[in-house]
Amino acid sequence: MRGLALDIGGTKIAAALVEESGIIQRQQIATPQAHAARALHQAIAQLMADYCHQFDYVAVASTGIINQGILTALNPKNLGGLAEFPLKASIARHTSKPIGLLNDVQAAAYAEYQLQDRSQLANFAFITVSTGVGGGLIVNHQLLTEPNGISGHIGHTLADPNGPLCGCGRRGCVEAIAAGRAIEAVASTWSDPCSPKEVFERFRKNDEKATALVANSARAIANLVADLKIAMDMQKIVIGGSVGLAEGYLPLVQRFLDEMPSIYRCEIESARLGQDAGLVGAARWVKDSLLSQPQDVSEENCYA
Ligand SMILES: [Zn+2]
Repeated sequence: MRGLALDIGGTKIAAALVEESGIIQRQQIATPQAHAARALHQAIAQLMADYCHQFDYVAVASTGIINQGILTALNPKNLGGLAEFPLKASIARHTSKPIGLLNDVQAAAYAEYQLQDRSQLANFAFITVSTGVGGGLIVNHQLLTEPNGISGHIGHTLADPNGPLCGCGRRGCVEAIAAGRAIEAVASTWSDPCSPKEVFERFRKNDEKATALVANSARAIANLVADLKIAMDMQKIVIGGSVGLAEGYLPLVQRFLDEMPSIYRCEIESARLGQDAGLVGAARWVKDSLLSQPQDVSEENCYA
């Protein structure tokens, strides 16, 4: 069984065929920005034509919230002209094969979970600390996606009621303190301003200001880990993303976690999958969840 996987991000769209043995025929295009909705319909039509007759199902990992097949976001402004985009319907114009959609970080969480000893791990989470902070939650071996696609948006849990205003409209979210964008916002106000990448270089040289800024981020993530542990009895949490995987970051999260009572602690480790986690995770999830149920599937592969 072979899936066509699409990973729709804010700046790029990746597509590939996913088989048991891995990914083939991967391609990548820029996410349309101008006339975004019309251009995305066209981009999807082109991708569906490119892979015509080559797949048994379609799996989509997308940025934002996927609610009943429609793309939206906590902060719809982030999606520009793509807010309320009918993603599932746009794909269904070109194929009668089953289509499954989920959030890209939920998909990555599912992919990371496959690398774990799942028989020993009922409850598992993935946190990405990158431009934003996102997550995917697996409870009792099941990835949480229903009913409205919101599950896993843990970057928008509270870190500091007096913290900065978050893009979602709430004050003091984890994302507003821990994310790369939050680090950038603070570092840009310094008398010697610098990029998030340089913040980490200064942090590794023990620069006081940079260390305090990175520590603020790591402390918020350690508290998020503790909250997930106490709320859902998480057994292991994997941390990824450009900030999460930056050298020296995970040990700092571990240090803050070690300062907490033991019941709040849970095993943490670095994410292992790279940029294709969304493609692989979406395909695997659709196969496991959607295709395990009886389908009324027409023989027609595509309408191109
Ligand atoms: Zn928020």
